[in-house]
Amino acid sequence: MTTVHRVYNFSAGPAMLPVSVLEQVQRDLLALPGVGMSILEISHRSKAFESILEQAEADIRTLADIPSNYKVLFLQGGASLQFSMVPMNLLTDSRTADYIDAGSWSEKAIKEARRVGSVNIAASTKAENYSRLPRQDELKLTPGAAYVHMTSNNTIEGTEYATLPDVGDVPLVSDTSSDMFSKPIDVRRHALIYAGAQKNMGPAGVTVVIIRDDLLSRSSKTLPTMLNYAVHAENRSLYNTPPAFAVYTLGLVMKWLIAEGGLRTMAAVNARKASRLYAEIDRTGFFRGTAHADCRSLMNVTFRLRTEELEKQFIGQSQDAGLDGLKGHRSVGGMRASIYNAFPEAGVEALVQFMREFERTHG
Ligand code: PMP
Repeated sequence: MTTVHRVYNFSAGPAMLPVSVLEQVQRDLLALPGVGMSILEISHRSKAFESILEQAEADIRTLADIPSNYKVLFLQGGASLQFSMVPMNLLTDSRTADYIDAGSWSEKAIKEARRVGSVNIAASTKAENYSRLPRQDELKLTPGAAYVHMTSNNTIEGTEYATLPDVGDVPLVSDTSSDMFSKPIDVRRHALIYAGAQKNMGPAGVTVVIIRDDLLSRSSKTLPTMLNYAVHAENRSLYNTPPAFAVYTLGLVMKWLIAEGGLRTMAAVNARKASRLYAEIDRTGFFRGTAHADCRSLMNVTFRLRTEELEKQFIGQSQDAGLDGLKGHRSVGGMRASIYNAFPEAGVEALVQFMREFERTHG
């Protein structure tokens, strides 16, 4: 066996996968055990693939304790297509949808919803560079709204909801792309949850949608077939060819999550990793966290240095030290350490040691 050199990949997504999952993919790539074909070659109508899909769904249901009146769908087009599918399917009967504008991805969701129907911005922290989440007392909700849309973790700005906003009886729709399965999720308090897989759940190419049954009746028959939730639900995500490799790998990650101890264990490990990093950021004032302390994300840790020149040096030297992807999103600058489920604690420790050394030599 050749020795492989892997760096610590702090990218916001696609992100690190568990090594054991990558090894299993590698081991079984030429032929799935008992099938004699690669997952890359297998028919999506075969018994073998159907059972891969069913098992992935079953494991998702177990992990997140999903009630039987919710469907789990495997779709394509990324979370970005959900920005359109959500309003196309749910914003019906000339109603208004409430959107909580808490980050750049919320803004993109709002832009797409406005193409479809009436949108009310329930609250926005854009004027504060999305450095915090809107508080409950700031929400101006529309009585009888079609739904309320939120972004549970703001990948670019590094903020994350610790508790869900209270939206009464209005269906809550959440974009959980960057914190899905990093901690327990109360599915019953949501009507629809969506997330691209490529951060915490698997490779790019599959989007998980969890939708409460009663919402499916809103999907109009006049919608384009591929954009209709009811069609995908009726066909158990097999209306057309699903992204078989992505579903398979996501399934392996779900098995890994279960073996690790499930979402409570994940939450404890993720909290430990994030607090180690934030403690270092706060230690002397040399680094500055960009998000308000009470809104800090456990997934995307965003921080800055006193000059952009210093930040450039930090990013360049960290890359040389095997710490990849620490450059902040191009729209906000600074640094961002994305430390999703599969990101190892040793990698966080390596970054902390690098930060100490950088401060010692540049402080
Ligand atoms: N929402 C959030 C919160 C995200 O972080 C991202 C991707 N970074 C998206 C939506 C868009 O996802 P995709 O690229 O899968 O369309």
